[in-house]
Amino acid sequence: MPADSRNPEISVSDLLLYINCPRRVYFVNRGFELFPEINASRLERMLLKELSLTYPEIVRECSLNADNLRKELETAFNQACEDLPLMFPREFACIEKETLEEGDARARAKIPEIAANLLKGLEEFGKDSMLAALTPVKTEPIISSERLNLKGSPSKLVYFENVTVPSIIKPGSCPIQGVWASDRIHATALALLLETESGKEVPFAFVEYVSFGLLRKVVIRSSDRREVLKICRRVEKIKAGFMPEKTEEKFCTECTFSEHCISESSLMSKFF
Ligand code: SF4
Repeated sequence: MPADSRNPEISVSDLLLYINCPRRVYFVNRGFELFPEINASRLERMLLKELSLTYPEIVRECSLNADNLRKELETAFNQACEDLPLMFPREFACIEKETLEEGDARARAKIPEIAANLLKGLEEFGKDSMLAALTPVKTEPIISSERLNLKGSPSKLVYFENVTVPSIIKPGSCPIQGVWASDRIHATALALLLETESGKEVPFAFVEYVSFGLLRKVVIRSSDRREVLKICRRVEKIKAGFMPEKTEEKFCTECTFSEHCISESSLMSKFF
């Protein structure tokens, strides 16, 4: 099918929204803002993501014991606290002091656990292997594929076991083993994109659960690829104007679209 007869191009972030709730794709596509403000939890995630970008340097240069790692992480964290407002001036202009303090305290409290888990990973996998999996060969590259009608940006590309693979940074919770289903879809979508760009198979990807200092390898399965392609087609349909049914989602109570969602549902019920 020629590119210009297709639906609007979709992005990996649309797929992630769809996994949360298909209706969110509909609202974001119509210009509604998903996160109108920074709260303490979002600030905590932003700080931990920023901190994680310093892991390779810390692991490379620091002599490896828990105390050293913790101290280096604290220094890097303080720097992240100073840098973040310069990187996101518009968002930070309207944050309350209490929110800043709470976000800072919540993120800072994670440092001992991050240090302990990084150290455990280093002992288990070795410094060279950890460094290869953590060190970006590219940071946030934009990859797009006309064939998939998809674009996306992995947090980084890393070169591991002779392959360049995507790595995604996740500041949220971490499963006991493996990765969350939504992270598997995220990693697979980026692997598919990278394959269409490089022409080489991408057999695995990494997910960094940065609030815990844990790094997980995800093998990309055919069933994951099938699922990503299925979601892509559904998202294309929504972006072309189809409004999905409202379902009672666990996210509804905290959703920034709940007001619009209810009013659109009642409007639709008048017609159908
Ligand atoms: S209110 Fe619920 S159904 Fe509506 S967009 Fe938000 S999460 Fe989805």
